[in-house]
Amino acid sequence: MLKGKSAIITGGVRGIGRAIAEAFCRNGADVLLCYRSNDAAAEKTQDELAQYGTKVEILKGDVADPEFATEAIAKAKENFGKIDILVNNAGITKDKLLIQMKGDDFDSVVDTNLKGSFYFLKAASSVMIKQRAGSIINLSSVVGVKGNPGQVNYAASKAGVIGMTMAAAKELGRRNVRVNAIAPGFIETDMTDELNDSQKAKMNEVISLGRMGSPEDVANLALFLASDMSAYITAQTICIDGGMSI
Ligand code: NDP
Repeated sequence: MLKGKSAIITGGVRGIGRAIAEAFCRNGADVLLCYRSNDAAAEKTQDELAQYGTKVEILKGDVADPEFATEAIAKAKENFGKIDILVNNAGITKDKLLIQMKGDDFDSVVDTNLKGSFYFLKAASSVMIKQRAGSIINLSSVVGVKGNPGQVNYAASKAGVIGMTMAAAKELGRRNVRVNAIAPGFIETDMTDELNDSQKAKMNEVISLGRMGSPEDVANLALFLASDMSAYITAQTICIDGGMSI
């Protein structure tokens, strides 16, 4: 589905980003994966993805640093000659009740999840506009659609991602650059591993399909949005939550 295409995936060495990277490589894409600090996961990913025979570049840096986005885009352009796909996946949580949430807790989550996505969106779109082609996928969350107690900072950042997606899609559509968002529900990764078994069981009760999603479930949707199969879809936020947000 992605033969001859190249992609940048932020937060691409663990969890959902790692599953997306594997789906893209398996389908023929060259990938540049960014991560912040987990060197062991980065090395393991590089080794494991080699089996697909496409180019796999890995770059360490903080998405909240605007210069990192410029560096990543330049590296992808140099190695692949073009950038067909951007997946803004890197994200963090710092959950606290509103009255206990400090300004720093709010800023750091917004800086990574929203501003980090903006820096990569801006840098990648300048290349894609010239190419007259591109697909950008931003990871939001059902929390950005519906809200969630203890996550005022995270909800604000992920709702911001949805607004940014629609505005960018309107700006870039005439240049054949599509921008969509994925809003996952409760997905089994390190991010949700902090919950204990009884908390997880409670969550499963409100999911129609009765189970947490897997990173591969989300990767399948990202693959569809990245490929030409979704050529007439832009500005959308697609919830992938097993029916949790109904
Ligand atoms: P994980 O915590 O498993 O992985 C996060 C990845 O993002 C890691 O590779 C991490 O790098 C990278 N990262 C985090 N902060 C930065 C930063 N400042 N600069 C560069 N890289 C960074 O997260 P998930 O896979 O669970 O989540 C992926 C995305 O999906 C996030 O945007 C999240 O908000 C969203 N999402 C997840 C849900 C879930 O249930 N899991 C539900 C809804 C949305 P490193 O490996 O170096 O730490």
